[in-house]
Amino acid sequence: MSRIASVLLPMPLPEAFDYAEPEGMGLQVGDHVAAPLGPRLIRGVVTAIREAAGGNRPLKPIDHRLDDPPLPPGALEFVQWAARYSVDAPGAALAIATRGARAPKARPDRVLELTGAQPGRMTPARTKVLEAAAAGPMPPADLARAAGVSSGVVKGLVDEGALVLRVIEAESRFDSPDLDHPSHDLNPSQAAAAKALADMVREQAFNVALLDGVTGSGKTEVYLEAVHAALAADPDAQVLVLLPEIALTQAVLARFEERFGAKPAEWHSDVAPPMRRKVWEAAVQGGARVVVGARSALFLPFRKLALIVVDEEHDGSYKQDEGFIYQARDLAVARGKIEGASVILASATPSLESLRNAETGRYRWLKLTSRHGTARLPDITLVDMRETPPERDRWLSPPLVKAMGETFAAGEQSLLFLNRRGYAPLVLCKACGEKLTSPDTDSWLVEHRYSGRLVCHLTGFSMPKPEKCPHCGAKDSLTSIGPGVERVEEEARSLFPEARVAVFSSDTAWDAREAKRLVEAMAEGYIDILVATQAAAKGHNFPKLTLVGVVDADLGLRGGDLRAAERTYQLLAQATGRAGRKDHPGRAMLQTYAPEHAVMQALKAQDRDAFVEAEMAEREIMKLPPFGRLGAIVVSGPDLQALEAFTRTMAQAAPNAEGVEVYGPADAPLALIRGRRRKRFLIRADRNVDLSAYLATWRARIKPPGAIRVSIDVDPYSFL
Ligand SMILES: [Zn+2]
Repeated sequence: MSRIASVLLPMPLPEAFDYAEPEGMGLQVGDHVAAPLGPRLIRGVVTAIREAAGGNRPLKPIDHRLDDPPLPPGALEFVQWAARYSVDAPGAALAIATRGARAPKARPDRVLELTGAQPGRMTPARTKVLEAAAAGPMPPADLARAAGVSSGVVKGLVDEGALVLRVIEAESRFDSPDLDHPSHDLNPSQAAAAKALADMVREQAFNVALLDGVTGSGKTEVYLEAVHAALAADPDAQVLVLLPEIALTQAVLARFEERFGAKPAEWHSDVAPPMRRKVWEAAVQGGARVVVGARSALFLPFRKLALIVVDEEHDGSYKQDEGFIYQARDLAVARGKIEGASVILASATPSLESLRNAETGRYRWLKLTSRHGTARLPDITLVDMRETPPERDRWLSPPLVKAMGETFAAGEQSLLFLNRRGYAPLVLCKACGEKLTSPDTDSWLVEHRYSGRLVCHLTGFSMPKPEKCPHCGAKDSLTSIGPGVERVEEEARSLFPEARVAVFSSDTAWDAREAKRLVEAMAEGYIDILVATQAAAKGHNFPKLTLVGVVDADLGLRGGDLRAAERTYQLLAQATGRAGRKDHPGRAMLQTYAPEHAVMQALKAQDRDAFVEAEMAEREIMKLPPFGRLGAIVVSGPDLQALEAFTRTMAQAAPNAEGVEVYGPADAPLALIRGRRRKRFLIRADRNVDLSAYLATWRARIKPPGAIRVSIDVDPYSFL
């Protein structure tokens, strides 16, 4: 009896394809195979096997099986679940889950070792080589260097059989955490939370906990104890820790090493391909017990996942907005359910979704109230920019400048926080009023002085800053409007010429190593004033930081999207929470034109409950998340008329369903990107509606013409 294998290919296809299993191949679900697709062979994964019934049309046979370790059932189920939830192709999710398998392996080490045989003729140089080789196997070049001889001498000894070349395959194994390593002293609040989490993890079942503690309350130490409990309860158990930013990875890796005497495996976009391959293999074979990584680490094929920690769970970086669109925090909970694992969501400013789940008892709720050590919360002042405005073309108000001066004089550090990269967010022609935008895109060009270029942060387009206005041709008429971090840095330098000023943004901390260097320089006191985007607003410990200035506290409130107030609150709470950690009292000053706004008032009072209550009440009235669900469908195409015609047809095809409202089509907030016009439908649904199924039904009813693209976003964040 022959068998049929369904093979999922890592491409945007709606379903797995059937192939015939060649006689004797003995395939199993999860196996990686090379399957023909048109003229090519494609790497895919077997998702199901069944006996062939008589009378079927003949199927193409699978070409061969690959010797990569099979995907475990939990990983495969998660890929399919994530695709269904996100209303996307399962192959697109599989592509993320098998990225590590497609990375090249590290080249094996080639080492020389002694055979014990004596060469026919001894020379002083040969004696030196044999003496050096006695220290143990080493690569040929190292051996020649250690002996201080030419490579020819070494080669001669290989030819005569005194040395032999051995090839050592790189092992997919990371150092095991030492569970007997001494743990930190925890304060009573931390100890209670750590015990509750450890008890939860030891149940070895699906559970979710929200670890809710103010900035600096020592959440990391607490969840490390849960990691310990998971590893101790089962010698095969694995733990995944998700972080929102690469910039945070090094600090967390160091905390792990301190706690367990071994570094965990690391997974993010900066990890070199051979290492990615190694981490992937170690996840599937059990050679990595702990992986610390960015959102895509959630798709690693863990063999026995016991615990997932989502650190800074409120962070918007967990939302992947392009390609396969997903929210890693939500998917982490789903993965935990599939694997029967515990999930810990940690934050100082939890998302309203997680708070709601904690309030209703779906999640366990663990609060850390007291600060670690003797540190106090900072004093927060609202600086009314209408009453004490900065000078013309300056951005720092007199009260903030005065506080910076006092801080510098006391030998302490200031952090100026502005969530805008570059020098100026807008370049305008004084002669004709033209705002410079990216070609074919409704997005302003941002001036970057470091690179001397105008950059589109949306499409990545960049050009040198022109001398003449590209619109009217006027010379020297282009003027920079508004501040970015580079411009605030310039102002800080001119105000305090003696101070050491630095910028922390994705332009200056472009990779994990640069970020680590800047964070260390700040932590060790080599920087007096740090001007930073949100990258520096989380997770770091700066003991000498006593002043945080928020340059434009109103920035997020103008965004006009669902989470604008929430995001502003979270960012500001994290940024101001940076000040005054150890024994220094800290202060924070927020520059605002709307000090009466509820978000500003809640921040000033440091009253999270008041903010959450006000925001929850508003969302409940509107039946918006977490009281309802949202989806977006963005339809784009090069031709406006064709696009409008298609969206009209699409609107008519929308399924009728109870508890669902469809808004649109309307222009998407950026109605033109890379020459493509964009229209958007927004879908609001009651909580009990299967929004994914609704969107999938709608999607199945429409046939977009070739030039038109339809992209579905369940639970949209950016509203772009
Ligand atoms: Zn002009």
